[in-house]
Amino acid sequence: MAVAYGLFILADKSKYLAMATGTINVQADNIFPIIKKFLYSDHEIFLRELVSNAVDATTKIKKLTSLGEAKGELGDLTIEVKVDKKKKTLTISDNGVGMTAEEIEKYINQIAFSGAEEFVKKYDEKSDKSGIIGHFGLGFYSAFMVADKVEIFSKSFKEEAGVHWSCTGSPEFELEESKKRKARGTDIVLHINEDSVEFLEDHKISELLNKYCRFLPVPIKFGTKEETIKEGEGEDAKEKKVTVDNIINNPTPAWTKAPSSLEEKDYKDFYRELYPMNFEEPLFHIHLNVDFPFELTGVLFFPKIKGNMDLNRDRIQLYCNQVFVTDQLEGIVPDFLNFLKGVIDSPDIPLNVSRSYLQSDSNVKKISSHITKKVADKLEEMFKTDRADFESKWEDIKVVIEYGMVSDEKFYEKAKNFYLYPDVDGTYLTWDELKAKTEAEQTNKEGNLVILYTHDKEAHHAYIAAAEKRSYRTVILDSPIVGHLISKLEQNLEKVQFSRIDADPLDKLIQKDAEISSLLSDEEKEALKPVIENAVNKEQFDVEIQEMATDDLPFVITQNEFMRRMKEMNETGGGMMGMGNLPDRFNLVVNANHPLVSEILKEEDQAKKESLTKQGVDLAMLSKGLLKGEALTQFVDRSFSLLKTKEN
Ligand code: ADP
Ligand code: MG
Repeated sequence: MAVAYGLFILADKSKYLAMATGTINVQADNIFPIIKKFLYSDHEIFLRELVSNAVDATTKIKKLTSLGEAKGELGDLTIEVKVDKKKKTLTISDNGVGMTAEEIEKYINQIAFSGAEEFVKKYDEKSDKSGIIGHFGLGFYSAFMVADKVEIFSKSFKEEAGVHWSCTGSPEFELEESKKRKARGTDIVLHINEDSVEFLEDHKISELLNKYCRFLPVPIKFGTKEETIKEGEGEDAKEKKVTVDNIINNPTPAWTKAPSSLEEKDYKDFYRELYPMNFEEPLFHIHLNVDFPFELTGVLFFPKIKGNMDLNRDRIQLYCNQVFVTDQLEGIVPDFLNFLKGVIDSPDIPLNVSRSYLQSDSNVKKISSHITKKVADKLEEMFKTDRADFESKWEDIKVVIEYGMVSDEKFYEKAKNFYLYPDVDGTYLTWDELKAKTEAEQTNKEGNLVILYTHDKEAHHAYIAAAEKRSYRTVILDSPIVGHLISKLEQNLEKVQFSRIDADPLDKLIQKDAEISSLLSDEEKEALKPVIENAVNKEQFDVEIQEMATDDLPFVITQNEFMRRMKEMNETGGGMMGMGNLPDRFNLVVNANHPLVSEILKEEDQAKKESLTKQGVDLAMLSKGLLKGEALTQFVDRSFSLLKTKEN
């Protein structure tokens, strides 16, 4: 019989000895070195395994009692974790079902046999959700990663006599009757090995319990703590310090409750509970609750993302029946949802398997697309029910939406209806609204609607002002992945193109039918070009002489839309590979129809001609934010001396 992950082969199941010495039933001579070295790089998960088993034992006794199969009082079901530094032991005690000698033989000695699985099979028909945690992997035997001897003291709810099992890390074990355990339940005693003494430190155990067991469904006690209570009434009331059990977990975290039973405040409190070091409030939440075709519960939070893009902080946590598994969810939720925070809990996500396997697992795929759909639905609902509120959150949520739109087709289909284009005056427009408002003015002679955008309305002020003169509207698209987003939009929207406001002179950005005649002849243009070229750094600029409106600026610096976008996409990933970090290249566009340009051309005094040109070019650079350092100093000096000449 091949079992659990193919590592262990069960030899002879019938070889059963009651109170005896025996050999743990695996075929490999000695599996313990394997367990210790190779199975888990994370030794600490032994605690998760043992506490999970204690929780399962507790869940079982509750279930059996409720079914009438176990008689007697349930009593206190608190699980206790105890460190004894002197004896070098760590003990996990529960008041659950306990084990008979037969059960130890069956479930413990035969490594690959899961009692959890059997229990679920037997009782699953009688209840919807078993809540049994079951196997994460090696389960009980992970204790040998940190202990060189493990003992079990157990008393089954079915029996009078208790049992004692002990094993020193070789396949031989001992099993005998024992009176040590008086009441129903189990103590697992780990004799911590030399290499693992850190697990005898209170702070280490606290840390692990807090990491893995914080939301387990049964109260877990670790040590005691001081608490102040009030005694007496009214004026006689006195404060008194008492020592109470230190319960480390919250057995009923928000995600396990019905959404209808929770208020906004409960979700905010849960956020704080989940991320105690995060003082920001979440923007809103999504409560996940699915029964079919997979089981999934959870609460996702949209954090305020603006200016806080540290993806590694406060990540989404994956739980399996309230046991923490990981916060590395690559392959389980789509990448763009990594910006979110919160918890997802599903017993249907296969654990202990490779990432590549995860991505092809059909349950994981279904879960992933379900979560994506839920997020899209929530955003749509918010947009529809309270648009003003949605707009107020826009700057914080847009990156997630944009990322989702470029990476997930289904998400795009929904999000395109509530994706907002803020214009430079602060009005938020949907695509349909933007289209209606720009169509008349901004359709070019080929019938394409040209959407003008800026990533920085301050830096592009001059360009935006020029566009406004022609009743063109500029929208603000300023996320790091804007290049990817607009490429996607251009693919999907028909006859639409996006141009950054500084990509070309306006007449070229939105070409209309009307031809503009040129004040300069071809020869004059030829003569002008070298004059201008002398005034600029040729590594950085191409000079272009164009006929533009006389009231357009004489010199404008533009940056080719395509080249800039490729460069940006390359920098944020997913663009053309191997382009490296290209230097920026600009066009210096000279307006052939501007009076200043004619004046430069006609100027006979060489020095004056040069300084006029320089001044013009510098002004263009200044309005593009490109004038810096020595060039800026020279510009300031030149401007002052020009002022002086005027006065004289
Ligand atoms: P799994 O939990 O996947 O079944 P484990 O190796 O963790 O695998 O445990 C094996 C079995 O041993 C359990 O299924 C259960 O039947 C039994 N067991 C382990 N710990 C306890 C406990 N504290 N109380 C009762 N039974 C236990
Ligand atoms: Mg287990």
